Amino acid sequence: MLTDPFGRTVKNLRISVTNRCNLNCIYCHREGESNPGKEMSAERIAEIAKAFYDLGVKKLKLTGGEPLLREDICEIISMMPNFEEISLTTNGTLLKDLAFDLKESGLDRVNISLDTLNADIYSYLTGGGKLQNVLEGIRCAVEANLTPIKLNMVLMKNLNEFEVFKMLNFTNSFNKEKTNVILQLIELIPNTKTKDLYLDPEIFEEEFAKIAMAVKIRDMHKRKQFFTSLGIVEIVKPLDNTEFCMHCNRIRVTSDGKIKLCLMNKETVDISNLSGNELKKAIFEAIRLRKPFFR
Ligand code: SAM
Repeated sequence: MLTDPFGRTVKNLRISVTNRCNLNCIYCHREGESNPGKEMSAERIAEIAKAFYDLGVKKLKLTGGEPLLREDICEIISMMPNFEEISLTTNGTLLKDLAFDLKESGLDRVNISLDTLNADIYSYLTGGGKLQNVLEGIRCAVEANLTPIKLNMVLMKNLNEFEVFKMLNFTNSFNKEKTNVILQLIELIPNTKTKDLYLDPEIFEEEFAKIAMAVKIRDMHKRKQFFTSLGIVEIVKPLDNTEFCMHCNRIRVTSDGKIKLCLMNKETVDISNLSGNELKKAIFEAIRLRKPFFR
C-alpha cells in the first residue's frame, strides 16, 4: 500500500495527458504546471498508470490542459489497467463527437467544467468559448452513459455566484430516472489576477445544509455531498482546510511525466527513464515525501 508518513493511503491517480487547451479560462491553475516539457506518449502514460495500479491505486482521472485535444485519447484509455474507475475531466467542448467512443474505450464517467449558463459570461470566462458546445457535450455524455457526470462550477464573486441554485436545477433536469448529473461547487484557488473574484463557498454550504434531506461525507478530502430536492451538490474546499489535506488520497503525474505531490506545491519527482521495479521504487520514495499543504 502506498501510505505516506501522515498515514494517508494514496488511492487516486490524476494524470495530465497534455498541457494544451482550446480555452483560456481567466482563473485556470493549469493543474500546477507552468512550463512543462514534452508530452508523454500513450505507451508511457500506460506504463506509469500500470505501475501505480500494481501498487494499489484504485481510481484514475485523466486531465489536462484539455485531454480531448489528444488525438489518441481513446487509445490511451483503452491501454489502461483494470482500475475500479477511470474518469476524465474536460471542458466539454469536444465531447459531442467523442462521448460514445470514449465510453467504448473504457471510460466510466466525466467531470465537465461549466461555471455559468449565461453565454456571454461563459465567453468572457473562457476567452471566447461557446456555451452551446458544452451543453451539447453534456447531453451526449448522458446519452453515452458517461455518468454520473459532475459539473465543475468554480465559484466567483459577481460572475456566477447568483447562478448556483440555477445550476443545481439544471443538473436535476438530467435526473429523471436516475442520477446522471451532479453539481460540484469548487472554491476558487485565486492568484494575483483573480483574488477579487474569491468568494467563500461557506454561505452556500449553510444554505444546502438547511434544505438537505441527507448529507454524505466522502473519504477523499472529507468533501460534503448534500442531497436536496433540487439536486445533489458536492462542495470542494481546497483552501486553508486541514480536513481536506489530511484526507487527501490523490497523487498527480504531470503531462511531461513527473510525479507531482500536491497541486499547491511546486515540488515534483522526476521518474523519466525509469521502468519496472525502478519506477515502482521511485513511486514509493515519492510517497514518502508527501505532506499535507495545510495542517
Ligand atoms: N480542461 C479540463 C477541464 O476543464 O476540466 C481539465 C483541466 S482543468 C485545470 C480541471 C479543473 O480545474 C476544472 O474543473 C477547472 O474548473 C478547475 N480549476 C482550474 N483552475 C482553478 C482554480 N483557480 N481554482 C479552482 N479550480 C480550478
